[in-house]
Amino acid sequence: MNKVTIIGSGPAGLCAAYKLAEEKIEDVTIIDYGEEPRKRKCPLELTSICALCNPCKILTGVGGAGLISAGRLNLRPDIGGDLGGITGSEKKAWELINKVDEIFLEFGAPRKIYGLNDEIRELEKKAASAGVKFIQIKQRFIGSDNSVEVINRFYKHLKEKGVKFLLRTKVKQISKTEGGYLLKTNKGEIKTKFLLVAPGRYGAKWFAEQAEKLGIKKVYTPIDIGIRVEVPAIVMDSVTKVSLDPKFHVYTKTYDDFARTFCVNERGFVVKEVYEDLILVNGHAMYSKRSENTNFALLIRIKLTEPVENTTEFGRQIAKQTNILGGGKPIVQKLGDLERGRRSTWKRIKEAMIKPTLTDVTPGDLALVLPHRILTDIKEALEALNRVIPGIKSNSTLLYAPEVKFSAHRILTNKELETAENLFVAGDGVGLSRGIVIAAATGIIAAEGIVRKIKENSL
Ligand SMILES: Cc1cc2nc3c(=O)[nH]c(=O)nc-3n(C[C@H](O)[C@H](O)[C@H](O)COP(=O)(O)OP(=O)(O)OC[C@H]3O[C@@H](n4cnc5c(N)ncnc54)[C@H](O)[C@@H]3O)c2cc1C
Repeated sequence: MNKVTIIGSGPAGLCAAYKLAEEKIEDVTIIDYGEEPRKRKCPLELTSICALCNPCKILTGVGGAGLISAGRLNLRPDIGGDLGGITGSEKKAWELINKVDEIFLEFGAPRKIYGLNDEIRELEKKAASAGVKFIQIKQRFIGSDNSVEVINRFYKHLKEKGVKFLLRTKVKQISKTEGGYLLKTNKGEIKTKFLLVAPGRYGAKWFAEQAEKLGIKKVYTPIDIGIRVEVPAIVMDSVTKVSLDPKFHVYTKTYDDFARTFCVNERGFVVKEVYEDLILVNGHAMYSKRSENTNFALLIRIKLTEPVENTTEFGRQIAKQTNILGGGKPIVQKLGDLERGRRSTWKRIKEAMIKPTLTDVTPGDLALVLPHRILTDIKEALEALNRVIPGIKSNSTLLYAPEVKFSAHRILTNKELETAENLFVAGDGVGLSRGIVIAAATGIIAAEGIVRKIKENSL
């Protein structure tokens, strides 16, 4: 029987293993469906995040979904999750943020820090006068092209410390067994005393089914639904030079809904995020390859109450409807066309002052696919943002859909992230985080819980 098994080698799983190795815990195994870092180059990387190849190189493998992402580390406990709420201590939350940052630095993340300068204060003031909250964040930028080597050093370090990796191995079923857990994989069975499940968004649905069978409780959390906005980079230069991934929060005029900007990719690319039955949009940026445009997600937070709390299904239906009207592709619309109440066409898009970075999309009409409330929120949020960043709300601005962030259920745990005896969880797939740093921090919290139990019971 293994002593500790971790499912998932994303930021959560890797940082958990780091902590276990630091505490000299022996017999730690990480199982991941994907490949080692250097084998994860996806030929579709520039145009697609594709979860269809077997195993998917973008979302699975050592480094997780965070590896071939923009690799922006948001070094704040309330961005990408609520670390203060999870730990119950702001001090502990900041300690974890600093620890995660130190780990990435140890493996070669660039030392340059963004988001700490005097101009930030001016931006904050300008946003406040427009009724928009600017969130000041210390950020580090690894870049999708650098992150492979950073994660490869992380991977080699863990192997040197004795952590075993079982790659291209998919856990299909988890069951309780005497003294631990039995994992059925495509390569055979594994027994383990302690189990840490960190499956990311890729494995979220699968683990929700396993949790149901194991009698583990979950609650539905709000979902973020919206669009990806693309503008000429010069429109946002004055802001992105001050803050690389500026976060703006707005409460909309009509519905008082929470809208936020997320994942700003300065001179980046809009990409497809392809799943078996859905195609979403996303974006990324690289250190070495740059486009003429900047893109960001504009997301509206939706919470459902009785009789239907299942926000995941709600988001799926909106995404499906968008894909149906896009003829199996995402939809793009010029803001000018949306405001005139007409669909976009390639001819109309070509007349715009911006060339889309994603062209495998269908010009269409967002008014036919997004609920009226969400569309109203989006228009009002753009209006407010335009007062901070003039030019965002122009005729030519491109809006892509569907952009949906599915982290809509949370597995219930204690403070150490233990959800059943000796079964711990961490990261995006269990609803604890929505970004690299908080995912990694929850991995460390779970590892600390495992270490405590091992030491207390002299195992
Ligand atoms: C395109 C893109 C860009 C992004 N950019 C950023 C960014 O710049 N900054 C940021 O903070 N966040 C970003 N994110 C989000 C970030 O990647 C995630 O928040 C983070 O990776 C979550 O970490 P995790 O460890 O919880 O899960 P993941 O990183 O998703 O890792 C989960 C791992 O579990 C494995 N797994 C799942 N189920 C099984 C199973 N049954 N058997 C075996 N293995 C399994 C998967 O193969 C995967 O490797 C981006 C995401 C995407 C998709």
